[in-house]
Amino acid sequence: MKRVFSGIQPTGSPHIGNYLGALKHWVRIQYDYESIYCIVDLHAVTLYQDPKELRAKIEELAAMLLAVGIDPQHSAVVVQSAIPAHAELAWMLTCVTPVGWLERMTQYKAKAGAQETVGDGLLQYPVLMAADILLYNAAIVPVGEDQRQHVELTRDIAQRFNSLYGETFVMPETHLPSVGARVMGLDDPEKKMSKSVPGSGHAVSLLDPPEVIRKKILRATTDSSPAVDFEQLGAGVQNLLAIYQAFTGSSDADVRAQFSGLRYGDLKKRVAEAVITALEPVQKRFHEIMNERGYVARVLADGAERITPIADATVEAVKKAMGLYTPA
Ligand code: ATP
Ligand code: MG
Repeated sequence: MKRVFSGIQPTGSPHIGNYLGALKHWVRIQYDYESIYCIVDLHAVTLYQDPKELRAKIEELAAMLLAVGIDPQHSAVVVQSAIPAHAELAWMLTCVTPVGWLERMTQYKAKAGAQETVGDGLLQYPVLMAADILLYNAAIVPVGEDQRQHVELTRDIAQRFNSLYGETFVMPETHLPSVGARVMGLDDPEKKMSKSVPGSGHAVSLLDPPEVIRKKILRATTDSSPAVDFEQLGAGVQNLLAIYQAFTGSSDADVRAQFSGLRYGDLKKRVAEAVITALEPVQKRFHEIMNERGYVARVLADGAERITPIADATVEAVKKAMGLYTPA
């Protein structure tokens, strides 16, 4: 069975972009593959995180993965830092990665640009991500559009390693959703919705209560036209329509028929109700899971136990390929 791997950072609060771009698809494809879904805490600390908050967020995010429908009986749900092989392989891959490749990454440029001093971790981030994927020889990596460049880089790193040290890694494929691959900020439809962007009008959190969701969506930035015109869709309106379509599974024709000529205020109400309806069962399950003492910790321990041998075997193979010391 082919393997699928993907990760999410325990930064901020997971939002509808994470859900539509990634989590929803993790759930959908989990039984078609051997699935590994990872809370990438080592990625989170590329920017400073409050330690207490980070520790709490890791378990909350694990609970959210279960709440959206990841089945821990089938899929391994793990925390990156619980499996030391991630950091170990990252070093070996760092040594075959030209700095120029990393400096070209769009996310690096955006995140580094916002910092006074840029931590080396921010630059190395995609190498650690390559290690996450290659450690399990994952064939499929379902991500949002913003991570496409990093998965491509992973292929480049794997190829370079294979050509230097012999065939070692499987080439991973990116899987992008057809709708919802890039959900934009409600306050600024030119920027992707992100956990780490501050401001209460930017993102709809998966845990926002109905009245907060309504308020955020009603305030979303649109253009100055009064109603939906499919010949001239502004970025903000396009974003709202994509959110609606991704949550309801409606076809393009259906969306056109329903929303053509509708005033923005009414469009926003419809979008808000669709989001609220879709999130209600997720929120209910999330609270049930959080109230079940010790459950999340057991799921994480079980996941780590199942997949650590795969990770260790890859590190061993890479060490041998590179001539590093492995006891005979
Ligand atoms: P951060 O701001 O901390 O980077 P983030 O919102 O970008 O947070 P990540 O944890 O980096 O979230 O990404 C988790 C997954 O969600 C990835 O697969 C990523 O591609 C996807 N994703 C993130 N933002 C969006 C978005 N706005 N639309 C669609 N998919 C997204
Ligand atoms: Mg991100």
